[in-house]
Amino acid sequence: MSTVLETEEHQALRAAVAALGKRFGRDYTTDLARKGEHPRELWEAAGKLGYLGVNLPEEYGGGGGGMAELSIVLEELGAAGSPLLMMVVSPAICGTVIARFGTEAQKRAWLPGLSDGSLTMSFGITEPDAGSNSHRITTTARRDDGGGWILSGRKVFISGVDISDATLIVGRTEDAKSGSLKPCLFIVPRDTPGFTRTHIDMELHAAEKQFELTFDDVRLPADALVGDEDAGLLQLFAGLNPERIMGAAFAIGMGRYAVERAVDYAKTRTVWKGAPIGAHQAIAHPLAQAHIELELSRLMMQKAARLYDDGDDTGAGEAANMAKYAAAEACVRAVDQAVHTLGGNGLTREYGLASLVTAARVSRIAPVSREMILNYVSHQTLGLPKSY
Ligand SMILES: Cc1cc2nc3c(=O)[nH]c(=O)nc-3n(C[C@H](O)[C@H](O)[C@H](O)COP(=O)(O)OP(=O)(O)OC[C@H]3O[C@@H](n4cnc5c(N)ncnc54)[C@H](O)[C@@H]3O)c2cc1C
Repeated sequence: MSTVLETEEHQALRAAVAALGKRFGRDYTTDLARKGEHPRELWEAAGKLGYLGVNLPEEYGGGGGGMAELSIVLEELGAAGSPLLMMVVSPAICGTVIARFGTEAQKRAWLPGLSDGSLTMSFGITEPDAGSNSHRITTTARRDDGGGWILSGRKVFISGVDISDATLIVGRTEDAKSGSLKPCLFIVPRDTPGFTRTHIDMELHAAEKQFELTFDDVRLPADALVGDEDAGLLQLFAGLNPERIMGAAFAIGMGRYAVERAVDYAKTRTVWKGAPIGAHQAIAHPLAQAHIELELSRLMMQKAARLYDDGDDTGAGEAANMAKYAAAEACVRAVDQAVHTLGGNGLTREYGLASLVTAARVSRIAPVSREMILNYVSHQTLGLPKSY
């Protein structure tokens, strides 16, 4: 693995996280996922060591780094067999939005816990009737008489709500002047009356479960609103670049894990006289190709992280989208080739690769689909007209 673009601190972080990931191992995560449980011990260990909050401000218990560091943590845990989707959500999206736009009280209430792993937050934007078109979301907050909020609506596919202390919900409030609806973010604690969740039965072998959420006139205090009511869109966008950079890290780590397993197998499995299957170019070349594609997508991820950490939100947007696209495509191909390399064993539980087939597909769909990234690049980068 090339680390030429990384500082010595980054390389040390990689090595330390890789050691933690190895200590737990893939069997730990898959056994818990099979039982429907979350890898809490790993999450807590990563939190205690400062890895979960490595991007969050030091004055609130974080490491004072950025997305360069957080993406290293997720990539290395994935490469050790534990791709933790909640890292995309809790420290990257929710932590970033609160750190950048939250009130002082919100920062104090959430950031230390998100940093050390004692608090977890999920993030809900997707709605059944809006899907990829987040401009169409209808979850709405209106003011109650006491200055608080009443939230109504539905969300779908929201990860980890059962294990989260609260969910950061993207809703809308009515603009007093124009009457139009504008996006706003609300912190909704897990046990708030009227906030219910229904588990969605996914064909997905993962550490996190997905839920459909219902907000039935959920009463929230005034300070449930994150930051400024009039800067909702700006605040939301602040969370999207970290989300995409971490989407890339999730995919690269998983892809690396799969390629490594396949290469180990191809070096020793011998079915013809003389040479192991890895000597056949039909096996070797696609693995080499998968490795190249993963390395290339890491380069784009590093570029996106650097731009974002340097404060260039706009520049980071294009790179973060491209990194997420490239990493997801590389991951899907890497996992497919890894499974194929193992022949029948690629589909056994013992070798643990088959469960990655659906997990890899997640990186193509969430948090933003491949097509929506292609749309973004078509319109924003190439200036092509829109069809919708
Ligand atoms: C495992 C998992 C975890 C998730 N976790 C979360 C979470 O924690 N929080 C959250 O808010 N959401 C979450 N999601 C939701 C995810 O972000 C959405 O599934 C995704 O954004 C796509 O929305 P959709 O499923 O409604 O698909 P749709 O919008 O219905 O799209 C269906 C297909 O049509 C394509 N398509 C749609 N519009 C266009 C267009 N204009 N041009 C070309 N193609 C188009 C899409 O790319 C896709 O292939 C999760 C999803 C999964 C699968």
